Amino acid sequence: MHVPPAKARLLAAVLLVVVVVAVSNPDSGRTVRWVSSGRTHPQPSTSAMSASSAGGAYLARLPKFDKAPPAHPVTAAESDGAPWISRVPTDQPVAFVTIDDGWVKHPEAAELVRESRVPVTLFLAVNAIQDNPAYFTTLQDIGAVIEAHTITHPKLRGQSYAFQKHEICDGADQLTELFGRRPTMFRPPFGEQDSTTLRVVRDCGMKAALFWKETVNRGRVQYQEARIVQPGDVILMHFREQFVDDFIAALEAIKAAGLTPARLEDYFP
Ligand SMILES: [Zn+2]
Repeated sequence: MHVPPAKARLLAAVLLVVVVVAVSNPDSGRTVRWVSSGRTHPQPSTSAMSASSAGGAYLARLPKFDKAPPAHPVTAAESDGAPWISRVPTDQPVAFVTIDDGWVKHPEAAELVRESRVPVTLFLAVNAIQDNPAYFTTLQDIGAVIEAHTITHPKLRGQSYAFQKHEICDGADQLTELFGRRPTMFRPPFGEQDSTTLRVVRDCGMKAALFWKETVNRGRVQYQEARIVQPGDVILMHFREQFVDDFIAALEAIKAAGLTPARLEDYFP
């Protein structure tokens, strides 16, 4: 086949450009690893990566927030039981990160929470944490607040007052013994409650029962309403293998909404 000299020169030039691009971009394979969960993260500097710990990588992904504004506490209307809260009734530009259960104790959770400086509320089931309460004491020492989530993590709806009182009140007592602070908030397992639950929560001296507006799973936020976190929203995640991705996804969602994480207990003094 005959190739005219002009075309041959063009072909050679194109090949040269392709080779130069390929050689000058040796990091392309590495870059791909920084794209996860459908989100693109800025590539950290070479020095951050050569710090080598996984820490360097995920700490660079943490959104930065201004300090939360001083809380305007809410007052609950008089009723038979504790208020059932999924969105704190506030106009302040804040949202609340809550983390449940405690069976899976991710080794880097404490570093992540510490570096984020984000206030978190932990709803712990006694049976999930009693093999290693020190893990949660570490989180408490860096500002996490420990709240109640029953002893055995049963479904409460439809159960007797006595059954629910044991799970809710005695569970709170056991957390008080372990962590030196009496829980003031309660979350029912699976978010399932009835009027008995709310009465028991009030009767054992707690201020609110918590549901949620968003949940985080496998690094993705699932919304119950609009696809944006709204002021006062309570966000639920769990102590799971994907703690790092879930925590960062929760913070990114709060950041994207122009909100700041705040401490739940400051709104229920
Ligand atoms: Zn739970």
